[in-house]
Formats: sequence, C-alpha cells, structure tokens
Amino acid sequence: MVITTTELIKRFLTTVNRENKTIGLVPTMGFLHKGHLSLIKKAKEENDLVVVSIFVNPTQFGPNEDFETYPRDILNDTNLAYKAGADIIFNPNVCDLYPEGSNTWVNVEGDITKVLCGASRPTHFRGVTTVVNMLFNIVQPDRAYFGQKDAQQVAVLTKMVNDLHMNVELVVCPIVRESDGLAMSSRNSYLSEEERAQAVVLNEALQLAGKSYKDGERNVVALIQLIEIKIATMPLAEIDYVSIYSYPTLAQIENIVGTAIIAVAVKFGKTRLIDNEILK
Ligand code: AMP
Repeated sequence: MVITTTELIKRFLTTVNRENKTIGLVPTMGFLHKGHLSLIKKAKEENDLVVVSIFVNPTQFGPNEDFETYPRDILNDTNLAYKAGADIIFNPNVCDLYPEGSNTWVNVEGDITKVLCGASRPTHFRGVTTVVNMLFNIVQPDRAYFGQKDAQQVAVLTKMVNDLHMNVELVVCPIVRESDGLAMSSRNSYLSEEERAQAVVLNEALQLAGKSYKDGERNVVALIQLIEIKIATMPLAEIDYVSIYSYPTLAQIENIVGTAIIAVAVKFGKTRLIDNEILK
C-alpha cells in the first residue's frame, strides 16, 4: 500500500492492532538499490509490519546541492520495496511534512555534526534529525533501520535517540557494495563511465589503510597519508576529506585506541561520494 499523507498513515497505523504488532521503519530518499533493500529485508525479518518512507528531504540539502536533480523513480522503488518485504510505502510531499510556517528544528549540537560531512554541509544533519524525528512521531516504530554507509548519520541519530530518551531501537546494517567494492549509492547514477571506473579508489584506499592498521599502524596522520596518496592516483578524484575519529563519538584522536572510523568524501566532477571503514 502506498500512502502519501501523514494524516492517512497515522489513521491507518492506529487501526492496526499496535498491541500485538511491531513496526519497523526504513527511512530512505528513494531511487532504491541493494543497500536500501538490505535494510528492508532486515526490517521484515524482525518486525510484523514494515514501513518504508521515500522522501527526498529538502532541509538536508544545502543551497547549491542536488535537491532538484536528485534521482527519483517512485514506480520502480515501489516494486523493489514490496519485493524486499515492505508492507507500507510512505511517500509524502514536501508541503505535507513541512507545511507553511513550519520552522521547528531538532539539532544535535557539538562537533559530532560539525566534523566530516558537517564541515562542508553545515545544515545537513539538522535536516536529517528533524525529518527522522517527524517520521518517528508519525510512524512510531519499534525499530528503525539505517546503513553504516552513512556512519556519521548513524552516530548523530544514536546521540539524538539517547539524548531525547526516544523509545525506538536503531538497527544499523552493513554497507552493501558493488562487485568491484564501490559502496552502493543513489548518487552513483550521476557518474560518467570514466568517473565510475575511478570511484573504486575510495574502497581500495580504505582497504589499504585497514590492512596497515591490521599490521599494527595506529598513527592517524600516517594512515590518512596512505589513503590520500592512493586516492591521488585517480586523476578525476578530488578529496573533500580523509579523516579518522573515534567512533561513534567522533572525537579527535592522534593514535587509534578503541573503536575508530576512517571516513572519506571524494568528488568526481559534481558528484560527491562517501565511504568509511570502522576499525575495532
Ligand atoms: P538514502 O536514500 O541515501 O537517504 O539512504 C537511506 C538509507 O539507506 C540510509 O540509512 C543509508 O545509510 C542506507 N544506505 C544507503 N546506501 C547503502 C549501502 N550501500 N549499504 C547499506 N545501506 C545503505
């Protein structure tokens, strides 16, 4: 069932017997790929009812970003989501979630939203936490599913859920990759053939650093340098950041002790790709 208004989904969800049913929510911006589908499948395994939201959220895009051109294909998405186990597809329009005059924000303060993607996208996480809050309030899920692909998003949402004592369990699913290692992303569709070929360098560089870490390297500067040199072998790659932080706190470290994240953002033309590796 596709539901396109908050009023209807709220009404529908109050008619199902909430006492005996668990609800899993999978928030997405659509143009679904196997990464999204892995979240839906996991939600299906663990819940009685799976709600997949498909909403390109304007408030998480900056002024010169790709909100207008973000790929959309609701018919194909609907088919794929059903096949993966979705019961309800929630596809609201912008005016429904943000009616005129709406100006309330949920914002996680501090470095956690300012480093990595927050540095070049200063209002991005405020948009994410606000819309995810809306979705939680509308759907009231028992569990919500997110991908480790967006590791900073996971860290920020975990902090939000803890800080606000929210009654929902976040389930984090592993990164799904193409056969050559490129992390699946709706934005991969923007890449030219040449850019696509060179984009494998993100994962290759992370693997290289992961191996060096396994071999005993713990120095952050040394690991970052290794990655930067590898990425620089691809002429079309322009580094936005290569960083290592403690995870999930995203605190600065000089040497790795405990769990850390290596995170990279690289531009190919106008397309900005992200990837990461958690070191334990
Ligand atoms: P998006 O539609 O890009 O907002 O992504 C919706 C959800 O799917 C987010 O929780 C993402 O982290 C997750 N996701 C996107 N790509 C992947 C991937 N390659 N593997 C696993 N999860 C992913």
